[in-house]
Amino acid sequence: MKIVILGAPGAGKGTQAGLLAGRLGIPTISTGNLLRAAMQQGTELGAQVKDAMDAGRLVPDEMIIQLVRRRLEEEDCQAGYILDGFPRTLAQAQALGGFAQIDAALSIEVGDEEIERRMEGRRICPACQTTYHTESNPPKKEGVCDKCGGLLVTRRDDTRAVVENRLHIYHEETEPVKEYYRRQGLLAAVRGQDKLADTTQRVFEALRISL
Ligand code: ADP
Ligand code: ZN
Repeated sequence: MKIVILGAPGAGKGTQAGLLAGRLGIPTISTGNLLRAAMQQGTELGAQVKDAMDAGRLVPDEMIIQLVRRRLEEEDCQAGYILDGFPRTLAQAQALGGFAQIDAALSIEVGDEEIERRMEGRRICPACQTTYHTESNPPKKEGVCDKCGGLLVTRRDDTRAVVENRLHIYHEETEPVKEYYRRQGLLAAVRGQDKLADTTQRVFEALRISL
């Protein structure tokens, strides 16, 4: 299965993508993580994307489209994948349609105020990219990653001003992508719930996958 996950930054895309991927035995391809990895490895691409990411702007379409297209050609993606964070613009959605046949687009809907509240508590493990939340999804030991023992940090682009910018871009650039998939009959939308497990249940129901 090839599934696209849409939703505002902080809507819980990454978490639900991970659960779906685990259930279906296919990888999650997260463009945010691909870009952060490129930055950490100090590649030329990484240097180019740093300013855009820190400011909460999107990186150029051609760059991200090429990155994703290459990644999807790899062996582990042949049986399917969950795309988290791509497509984020209409141009990206159209490009993806040219090299992949998507089975479903799942939109996780969360209001702006709730997003701003959530982002303040968001933490990430720089070593393995797992995300946590101080209230809704805390690690067993405060500040430490359950999976690898890494020390959790706040992402540089999770500050208030940057979050507002990212929300603005989401409404302008990414919401039209929902319409694109709706017209193709591929859109499933669920409202993000306060409790992670409640959202998960709705996500699996919407995609008709048993938990
Ligand atoms: P979130 O999980 O909060 O939605 P991501 O980790 O997916 O955030 O993305 C972080 C940043 O990476 C974005 O703000 C943007 O700068 C860049 N980015 C990620 N995916 C894309 C994309 N498909 N197109 C352009 N830029 C992207
Ligand atoms: Zn970790």
